[in-house]
Amino acid sequence: MEALSIEQTQAMIIYTAGKILEQADELGAIDRKIGDGDHGIGMSIGCREIIKIVKNKKYETVSEIFKDAGMGMIQTMGGASGVLFGSLFIGIAKETSGGKLTAAALASGMGTAVKEIKIRGGASLGDKTMLDSLEPAVQALRQASETDTDLNSGLLAAQAAAEKGVEATKKYPAKFGRARTLGERSVGYQDAGATSVYYLIKAMSEYVEGASK
Ligand code: ADP
Ligand code: MG
Repeated sequence: MEALSIEQTQAMIIYTAGKILEQADELGAIDRKIGDGDHGIGMSIGCREIIKIVKNKKYETVSEIFKDAGMGMIQTMGGASGVLFGSLFIGIAKETSGGKLTAAALASGMGTAVKEIKIRGGASLGDKTMLDSLEPAVQALRQASETDTDLNSGLLAAQAAAEKGVEATKKYPAKFGRARTLGERSVGYQDAGATSVYYLIKAMSEYVEGASK
């Protein structure tokens, strides 16, 4: 499928937030190993808010849906990760417009999000953060969308790249977030935020696959 409609984008966001709620315990357990264990709780608070806001609203553009999702996260999650995960959706909101969500617009929006997350958080690739799965996923989506406009195959490529990115975080010592105090002792453990990004993209991909049938 080439693009999602407004209603489909709305349903995708709700589906995705619901999937994160299902993963909350696992995300908390991952964060507990090298962080403070609150990542699953934080993401759940943000995702419950997304569902609450987006569920019953009538939207005129896909951009507004992502803006609501991002603002909902920032306002309820608090802390650095609320802003960083909220920025992911706000970035997408900035590059999407009108009544359709295409792979190219999503790639461009996620690219903007990467830039803003880097500016706000100061981290870069290899610092054991959410960027380690997000940045390769964006690159894969962009590359795929240049040759094939199918949203489904673009998201599958992004999902595979994000999964690899999560695996790669195990090799890095943490430079940001609470895990940074562990330094080299954080090697061997995967990053919680990178894992959340993977689940977000996986859920989007699943939704689009279902909607394509
Ligand atoms: P907190 O660190 O306040 O406990 P969370 O546990 O919800 O917040 O989120 C932690 C995740 O946030 C980390 O696993 C990492 O992926 C991400 N993160 C933390 N700091 C940064 C940063 N400066 N830039 C990008 N991502 C970050
Ligand atoms: Mg934490």
